Amino acid sequence: MKHFTRGFAAVLFATTIALGATATIDSASYLDDVKFLASPELRGRITGSPELEKAAAFIMGKYRAFGLKPVDGKNYYQPFSVTTDAQLGKNNRFRFSENGHTATLRYPEDFIPFNFSHSGALAGTVVFAGYGITAPEYHYDDYAGLDVKGKIVLVLRHEPQEADEKSVFNGKDYTQHAQFTSKATNAKMHGAIGVILINDLASHHGDADKLEKFGTTAGPADAGIPFVQVKAERLAAWFTEAGKNLNEIVTGIDKDLQPRSFAFPDALRVDGNMDIERAVKTVHNVIAYLPGETDEYVIVGAHYDHLGLGGQYSLAPSQTGTVHPGADDNASGTAGVIELARWYAKQPKQKRGVLFLSFAGEEQGLLGSAYYAEHPLLPLDKAVAMINMDMIGRIRDSKVYVGGVASGSSLRALLDQVSPNYSLKLDSAGAGASDGSSDHTSFLAKQVPVLFFFSGLHSDYHKPSDTWDKIDNVDAARLLQLVADVADHLRDAPDRPTFVRVAAPSGHGDKNLGPVGGNSGYGPYFGSVPDFGEGVKGVKFADVREGSPAGKAGFKAGDIMVEFDGKPIENLYDFTYALRGKKPGDTVKVKVLRGGTPVEADVLLTKRD
Ligand SMILES: [Zn+2]
Ligand SMILES: [Zn+2]
Repeated sequence: MKHFTRGFAAVLFATTIALGATATIDSASYLDDVKFLASPELRGRITGSPELEKAAAFIMGKYRAFGLKPVDGKNYYQPFSVTTDAQLGKNNRFRFSENGHTATLRYPEDFIPFNFSHSGALAGTVVFAGYGITAPEYHYDDYAGLDVKGKIVLVLRHEPQEADEKSVFNGKDYTQHAQFTSKATNAKMHGAIGVILINDLASHHGDADKLEKFGTTAGPADAGIPFVQVKAERLAAWFTEAGKNLNEIVTGIDKDLQPRSFAFPDALRVDGNMDIERAVKTVHNVIAYLPGETDEYVIVGAHYDHLGLGGQYSLAPSQTGTVHPGADDNASGTAGVIELARWYAKQPKQKRGVLFLSFAGEEQGLLGSAYYAEHPLLPLDKAVAMINMDMIGRIRDSKVYVGGVASGSSLRALLDQVSPNYSLKLDSAGAGASDGSSDHTSFLAKQVPVLFFFSGLHSDYHKPSDTWDKIDNVDAARLLQLVADVADHLRDAPDRPTFVRVAAPSGHGDKNLGPVGGNSGYGPYFGSVPDFGEGVKGVKFADVREGSPAGKAGFKAGDIMVEFDGKPIENLYDFTYALRGKKPGDTVKVKVLRGGTPVEADVLLTKRD
């Protein structure tokens, strides 16, 4: 009922503030598109699914119907490959032998590998490594004096003193060290060949010995080390046979923060296998071009993928298996690009063209936009600005966050000029303007000025409850009219905005990755912007800031970091972890691959400003 009222109002609204004589942003057709994209039939549009391809075909059909052409005149699709979310293979087993007897644990009752686990054998002798934490800042190291090279480590979940308000480990809040991925990287850096994690039941009296569901844990695609969670009760005998008492160990560590690691007798051997399948699939960015009188153009983009049935980026992990429709994230922006395409297809030719980009793979880490930025169909130096819309369907109190305003010389003045004509409050300073990093980040790294429109986070974000009926299509249409107006000015102005280097948005807010990328206020300053594309072992730099520690050391965009301070770096999590362990003033040896050739330099880390 509420919705009917809205739709009715929209019709009145649309007819009264039409910008041109021939076309208006149509809030009703906008809502139809959101509804289709967020329908149960599209099952949350996860990258790699047939439903994402359905969404791609839908967008292409719209571009075609509006008379917009592909860049090359032939194909609206830009294919690229992605590794899909991990699936459990058939060959998962966990056996151990101890003093002549062998036990086989049952899946999934007794053990479950993490989705970021390396796939392969988990076999060898075992060392108990406490919480698996090395925290020089708290003078705590479970690995101190411990030899785990070539061994499997058994670690506890969480961290010491977690119930203690006065804990050096950030009181009752968990620090980064409690994260599974931190434990994986730390074990790997100490030379371990596998990680077994058990619940720290002694710190959680009365809690059941529950395992995390497969596929719900945030982490890299492949942490580079087998990592399995096992029921603590099933391994309790390991401790008693070794003459140890796990409860005493835990309370002891809590008391004096002295680690109590030890090697189990060699008679204890694990013989297991973690089988995780990562399929490589071809997915598509959908692209249409409306040429202008010159070869310059404005980019209007949005990602059209979402989370499917949940998975590691879901904020409702208990509802894994339920469709996450992603109406606001980002059917709202996708339908926005479609409406703008409809609108522009009917406008007279202007000085500059418009490139419409619909990205796949955003939720997995900006994969589609990163791919496009590396393989642009039109020269990126002819792009005068990139306008990104990610979650524009839940405008409250007429407030819209705008990110990137400082990235182009004339953008602020342009917004100040245009926005009074629309009853929307643009906020380019608030937290919301910088929080939600999204596909525009890939263009910032290529020195294209960006504007990022965003109606703010809400409690349905990344949950099955992000449904179409909560979309405010009237306000969204109002915003689209404003965006069309902004883009018009960018198309016709005599001068284009000059790119201005700004502090890049940190990590990826939309990704729930936490402080990833060494750019986010944890640890010292390094100065690289990570490339969120995939397919490389190491961390590829999309950009290196001038005058930053990495820049001064001579590192460049395109370099792939493979070693930091003598430690192998296989992914962004490894790098973030390694960087966090350093202090401003430290000098570290960093090795990169440049065009396949190793290049090494010392980097003097500094403080962030
Ligand atoms: Zn999004
Ligand atoms: Zn998202």
